[in-house]
Amino acid sequence: MKTKIGSILLLLLCATTSLHSQQNNFTDHFTEQRLRINIVLAGNSQEQHCYLESLNKEPFWGGSQSSLVQDMNYGEYNYRVETQSGKIIFSKGFNTLFQEWRTTAEANEISKSFRSSYTIPFPNNKVNVIFSERNRNDGKFYDIATFPIDPLNKSISSENTNDFNICKIHDQGDPKNKVDLVLIAEGYTLDQMDKFRKDAKRFVGYLFDIEPYKSREKDFNIWVVESVSKDSGTDIPHNDKWANTALSSMFYTFGIDRYLTAPDQTIIAQAASEVPYDALYVIVNTEKYGGGGIYNFYGLSMADHPTSAQVFVHELGHSFAGLADEYYTSDVAYQEFYNLALEPWEPNITTKVNFESKWADMLEGGKAGLFEGGGYMAKGIFRPAEDCRMKANTAPAFCPVCTRAINKMIDNYIK
Ligand SMILES: [Zn+2]
Repeated sequence: MKTKIGSILLLLLCATTSLHSQQNNFTDHFTEQRLRINIVLAGNSQEQHCYLESLNKEPFWGGSQSSLVQDMNYGEYNYRVETQSGKIIFSKGFNTLFQEWRTTAEANEISKSFRSSYTIPFPNNKVNVIFSERNRNDGKFYDIATFPIDPLNKSISSENTNDFNICKIHDQGDPKNKVDLVLIAEGYTLDQMDKFRKDAKRFVGYLFDIEPYKSREKDFNIWVVESVSKDSGTDIPHNDKWANTALSSMFYTFGIDRYLTAPDQTIIAQAASEVPYDALYVIVNTEKYGGGGIYNFYGLSMADHPTSAQVFVHELGHSFAGLADEYYTSDVAYQEFYNLALEPWEPNITTKVNFESKWADMLEGGKAGLFEGGGYMAKGIFRPAEDCRMKANTAPAFCPVCTRAINKMIDNYIK
């Protein structure tokens, strides 16, 4: 009996100690500044490599200081920060354009490289930053690269190469307890910056016009980056139209005319280097229908189309909340995007392999259902509602499962 009581006391002591160490975790390991890690992912459908390109020290971290290690298991990739003794002090999941490209037919023929950037609070001590990829066959993460980083390394650049205006257009307080969304100008010339300011305000209106964002307005800060382009618009390769723009965005990604992306994500992260952001969103100065959203990478869509509001919140659903597409009838370039033998990680689709981890609790009372078709596949993948903003621009709202997932993501950033 004595031993048992001893163990209970010891457990209680441990619980208190770990709570205490969690509270002190941030300043033990990090400063209020930010480290941007610029990498290159290269390869083809069969193999990939991850290379370190450069490091930047940026002025503001701005993210949560208590929710540093992700517990949601989201993303096709993950990066984590470990101390010299192997303790995980930061982790985050993400998707990439490279991973999408690897599922196209072209990736069976050639190898390509893609640049992208990931941020962590600036470390106080030497750390290892480890990138891992989710394996398609078992759904588990495997390390693909480890980069030892010494914060005193003189080659970490503090250079500020941006010379454009930045302002906060929706201010609800301290960035560490808010979702900081940055809207970045693309394809706006200097003469068109007034239009960008109006467009950005219009996009803020779109966001807070739909639930759950409407009820969570006080949890957001919104920043704008007035990155100036030499030419107006964006590249439309299938019409032989090319424009010299700040972020090098383009339609016709993977041969799909409406798939608008910026293949070099590092340029976007660079444009936002002076902003304490949690999510990057690019407004492209075009009337042509198109957009893209990649989880913890960026979202991007057209400024001037009758469906600009719908497409913006749809793409932000991907890039900010990690939601999957619930449609399955449109043309996409991907070949068998999901492995039906596994439960996908996205919260709003299921293969029923582990439905309990999804919205099984919401079936009761009819809060959500099970409708076959989703994730670009008509069979074998199920979505929670007949219609949803993640399925169609004509849907009036997000379905209850997407709504819950967005709220959960907001909660994660405001801790
Ligand atoms: Zn939904």
